[in-house]
Amino acid sequence: MTQIAVFETVAAMRAKVAAWHAAGEKVALVPTMGALHQGHIALVKEAQRHARRVITTIFVNPTQFAPHEDFKKYPRTFDQDCAMLAEAQADAVFFPQVEEMYPPGFATRILLLGPAAVGLDDRFRPTHFEGVATVCCKLFTQSQADCAVFGEKDYQQLKVVTRMAADLDLGIEIIPLATFREPDGLAMSSRNRYLSAEHRALAPLLHKVMQALAARLRNRDDLFKAVTEAQGEIISAGFELDYLEARHADTLAAITSLADGPIRLLVAARIGGTRLIDNIAV
Ligand code: AMP
Repeated sequence: MTQIAVFETVAAMRAKVAAWHAAGEKVALVPTMGALHQGHIALVKEAQRHARRVITTIFVNPTQFAPHEDFKKYPRTFDQDCAMLAEAQADAVFFPQVEEMYPPGFATRILLLGPAAVGLDDRFRPTHFEGVATVCCKLFTQSQADCAVFGEKDYQQLKVVTRMAADLDLGIEIIPLATFREPDGLAMSSRNRYLSAEHRALAPLLHKVMQALAARLRNRDDLFKAVTEAQGEIISAGFELDYLEARHADTLAAITSLADGPIRLLVAARIGGTRLIDNIAV
């Protein structure tokens, strides 16, 4: 089996990055929670286009989970993840334990405004983005990477992290990558493995409804009517809908007409206890 370097401490990762930088090599970071799929590997491939060296981080970050969420049962498949990353020719894995990231006495959070406070996922997961921002800020400064690649799959997260990196002058470029999908259109996600066969068969409906809605809006259909009908289709199919909204693609601000665009459609819905999110450009 091909091997990949694994760093468990910040000091070990920093020493390696310093050596790469001294050799004039750029370093890209791909932050993940592991349980890797081809969407994550697409991020690694994109990172390789921007930097000679790629570090993938694998850390199931406790601060971004609410007490009732799936932190404990989140899939952990470290050996398989390393095999996939070695196959993709990533250079290293940063795999810290919780104590390395949050030693006793840790007491800092990042307070977020802007895209983190627009009433989308933040309405349903009120402490999620401060956990994401805190861990990403740490990973960026720990690694000293030149750039980091994030998926559009988590569109609000991408906007939050991009804003934070700019606002806090973290000196890292955030590179977005389009959502990688299963052949039937379902956005790849580590959480898809929670789905029963029946719910897995239903799940691609989300993307189909979003595509049809985007087409209606491109044809200048009535915004409110089209969005309301799409919401109804998802609910009728048996999903519990958290939200399906048309938002400004850059700021995520609410819009009232097609002229307020560019528009991004964002959805979050639960089926059989699994929460799925997706989004699409209009
Ligand atoms: P996660 O491990 O799910 O927290 O995601 C780690 C990174 O992979 C984030 O930047 C996600 O947006 C990205 N990602 C997850 N699923 C996909 C996908 N299907 N296509 C593209 N990027 C993805």
